[in-house]
Amino acid sequence: MILAELAAIGRHRKTGGYRRSAWSDADMELREWFAGAAGAPGLELVEDGNGNQFAFWRASAGGPDQSALLIGSHLDSVPDGGAYDGPLGVVSAFAAIDHLRRTGFEPARPVVVGNFTDEEGARFGIACVGSQLATGALNPDQVLGRTDADGRTLAEVVRARGRDPEAFGPSAVLDSIGTFVELHVEQGRSLVTSDSAVGVASAIWPHGRWRLDFAGEANHAGATAMADRHDPMLAYAATVLAARELATRAGARATFGRLRVEPNGVNAIPSRVRSWLDARAETEPALQALVQEIRLRAEDAAAADGTAVELTQESMSPAVRFDARLRDRLATQLDAPVLPTGAGHDAGVLSARMPAAMLFVRNPTGVSHSPAEFASDDDCTAGVDALAAVIRELAPAEDSLRSFDGLRTGQAQGTQ
Ligand SMILES: [Zn+2]
Repeated sequence: MILAELAAIGRHRKTGGYRRSAWSDADMELREWFAGAAGAPGLELVEDGNGNQFAFWRASAGGPDQSALLIGSHLDSVPDGGAYDGPLGVVSAFAAIDHLRRTGFEPARPVVVGNFTDEEGARFGIACVGSQLATGALNPDQVLGRTDADGRTLAEVVRARGRDPEAFGPSAVLDSIGTFVELHVEQGRSLVTSDSAVGVASAIWPHGRWRLDFAGEANHAGATAMADRHDPMLAYAATVLAARELATRAGARATFGRLRVEPNGVNAIPSRVRSWLDARAETEPALQALVQEIRLRAEDAAAADGTAVELTQESMSPAVRFDARLRDRLATQLDAPVLPTGAGHDAGVLSARMPAAMLFVRNPTGVSHSPAEFASDDDCTAGVDALAAVIRELAPAEDSLRSFDGLRTGQAQGTQ
């Protein structure tokens, strides 16, 4: 398994987790690895203005329509993430191509391996930056001025890495792509219970990020009587519990995973607690209703302590329903179960632009964004085999081009 080639890159010695935020040293090393993986079999490496990497396996014949099949995922990670989220899709894409080439298979259309930049949004706070810039869903002005924890803007960071922030924006490379299939480790346990190594995605839940600023009054932890305090930590804590209760009741998800406390002293009552809520639900109205209920509970809790809370929406990703024809075609071909996901992906972003699909590989722990994330070697191999079958199906040898044209025609009709 060539995933082993990446095992040491960005791995934290103490936590065992991966720290591969966008444009970090680890990310740069992964980009070099990608270039090498493309170069060895003679694929043509292209990087668009946003830092997204593409490795083209050119078609030998070339049909009437050169729309390429894109496979791949991302290489960046959340802080202390697992080894599979992202890299499994990229590594499996190279492995599937390698497998097909050794069998003498030549696609009639280009097959492209992609590595989308900054999928996790761990450093600058916006997810799927590379794919969103490439499709035009995100304007460069919305991200270039954002700062990381060290106060450096994205523009400064990419310039230091020899890239031109002026080049950010819609990607001409996508003009040559007709379909995207992203393989990804499953971030849940549906495949464990269905007893299948590989599944096909039906939809991505809508999800968003909100910032909650709880403001109170700093004071001495010893000299201030309990009754005299305006401690914003209390409303924050009550809100965390309320979010859990409300999300559980709604069959949704709510998470507070990030917190900043001022002045952040052990013996000081905080003046401000800044927290971030990640919330997801099956539909957008259900998500808005959940966040509204959390807001009300936060305001009630704050009012009870003489503190205040302000809620600001930082991002919102709408629901994604993957192309039904493509989804059903792959599920039938692979004899794979169809399942929804609560996680966002680049395939969701590209689905607004072209037929897109996702393959999930079984993760027995069900855990993701953690070192506990796992997929067995056998299941990873099943994923590579599935991806190779998808390439044969969607970028077939020249004599079976009609089936690919049928897919594209069907999509054009379906979206009118
Ligand atoms: Zn991912």
